[in-house]
Amino acid sequence: MSAAAAAAELAAPGGLAAGQAGDLARLFAGGACVQAVGPQGRRLAGLLDEEFLSGAGWDPVLQMMEVPPGHRLLGWQECRVAGCMSRGDGPEQVCLGCRLRLAANDLELDELDLIPARGWRRPEQCRVTGCPRTWRTPKLPLCRAHLHQQRKVLKVGLEEFLARPDVRPLPPCGPCQVTACVRDRDGTSGDYCRAHVDRWAKARKADPSLNEQQWRATAAAIARPGLVSLRGLPPGLVIEILFGLQQRCAAERRTNHKLLRTICDDMRRQQVATIAEFTPGNVQRSIVASFLGHLRRASATAETEKDEDTWDLALFGHGGRMTFTAITQDWLRETAKRWVLEELPRRRGRRVGGTVQAYVNSVARLSESLRTRPDSGQAPAALGRADVENFLNRLAFQHSAGQISLRLRERICRDLRQVFEHIRALGLTRPGQAAAGLSDDFALLAGDVPHPPQPGEPSRDLPAEIIAQLCEHLDELEAISSRRMRAAVELLIDTGRRPEEICAIRFDCLDRDGDGAPVLVYDNYKAARLGRRLPVSEATAQLITAQQAWTRARFPAHPTRRAEAAALAVCQPRRAQGRPHRKPQRAAPHLDRRAAAVAAR
Ligand SMILES: [Zn+2]
Ligand SMILES: [Zn+2]
Ligand SMILES: [Zn+2]
Repeated sequence: MSAAAAAAELAAPGGLAAGQAGDLARLFAGGACVQAVGPQGRRLAGLLDEEFLSGAGWDPVLQMMEVPPGHRLLGWQECRVAGCMSRGDGPEQVCLGCRLRLAANDLELDELDLIPARGWRRPEQCRVTGCPRTWRTPKLPLCRAHLHQQRKVLKVGLEEFLARPDVRPLPPCGPCQVTACVRDRDGTSGDYCRAHVDRWAKARKADPSLNEQQWRATAAAIARPGLVSLRGLPPGLVIEILFGLQQRCAAERRTNHKLLRTICDDMRRQQVATIAEFTPGNVQRSIVASFLGHLRRASATAETEKDEDTWDLALFGHGGRMTFTAITQDWLRETAKRWVLEELPRRRGRRVGGTVQAYVNSVARLSESLRTRPDSGQAPAALGRADVENFLNRLAFQHSAGQISLRLRERICRDLRQVFEHIRALGLTRPGQAAAGLSDDFALLAGDVPHPPQPGEPSRDLPAEIIAQLCEHLDELEAISSRRMRAAVELLIDTGRRPEEICAIRFDCLDRDGDGAPVLVYDNYKAARLGRRLPVSEATAQLITAQQAWTRARFPAHPTRRAEAAALAVCQPRRAQGRPHRKPQRAAPHLDRRAAAVAAR
């Protein structure tokens, strides 16, 4: 059936809009029972992109994906041996079959071109011209019936048999009865393809009471490189999987098609109707979780999301999640949400979620303190200055008991002062609003915010004694960590740059000025000043040169990308993969020898 005909057929009975029926026809051209697809499934189907589907090798008739090896995010390595269509393993990109043939011919991996030609390619079809049936094996390249005719009836050699004019092609045997399988039956009398004949025999031996119909519906397809069979899964689930995969690709996430295949096989075995019902194995978990995240995002909007207590910030144009669950008073949680809704559009940058969440966490600390009231702080009108003082005393106690730092205590007070000022400015304390009746006394004053720690206090710079110890024990540091860690620490000490700057440093970070003096080229991310040049000593230049040589020796085959990824420092590989690297905590020591010297004075 053509896609247009399928669309017309779908449009007729259910009275679907032509566009929606067309969306389903792109996905299910065969007789799939698409009437069961609900409105949400139809909406998702409409979001599937034609280019993605054809790029991933989706076959709407066979209900399977034939992922081409060259696909950027789903692709796989083809075996390097000419004419071989298997998956190449390892850095040599040679399949197991070819490795065995190499060994059988006493050849090494660098003598691939000497390997005898395989002489066959897929499809594994009977050699009799026009016969559609599957051959027995590469060495017996005839279907079961023709093999019988050659060996038992005519008793002639293969070439003579193929040349005879009375040897005629046979009609196809029909498809294998295993739902997921797309192979042909082995002979006209059996129900299955050759591989499934064996699998059924094995399965029945293991469990004689096995229901054959059930087994047919749940058995996996015979694997081959690039093939992912979605046959036998409900159409709604197929749409979910394709949509999840499309969104992963759009987010530049690689998905191993072999892993996807095991997920589809397990879903068929568990007979689930949606991804949400599926119980994934350990290695499948992260892909399944990302599928679910994309599905949720597709059905949610910023409007529906703000009623939840945990937000997916992607719906608001930022990354990460935001949670309000620690705020137990309804009015305070609603107020905090309103404040965040006002705040999010005003902020820019990669870490907006984390920054705003810190404010919400400060509100959660206030919520914790209000819970000690007899009414648990549920009534905003009942709160006053005494509750603020209670809260401040509680923070002071937590600080003195060493549970929170002075910096955090100051930050919580500053955050809350700002948040409550905004809340009043937004009119949220007026009648009918979330914080209606909250008295003006319930506020933090300027004097309530403790003084921040002065720069140069022990929390900022490492004391000179520790720097001295570090310098003395660099060999031990290398022994318990790694050579890259040691190089990074030495660079930190020598240059006084921020840890995140040293971690993100590039392979070719060493340059020379006009007068030949060495300079370190680095990016100051905090101030967004890229390509900064810092004069360094010859000793530091030697350190970098030695590290470059080590890196080059470690990755000889990949002089650029791999080497850069593993360049000089510790966090670099995460950045090289395009993911933001974690910002070192605020209290991360600034290893600055000069600062330490000043502190020691
Ligand atoms: Zn091969
Ligand atoms: Zn044949
Ligand atoms: Zn089969």
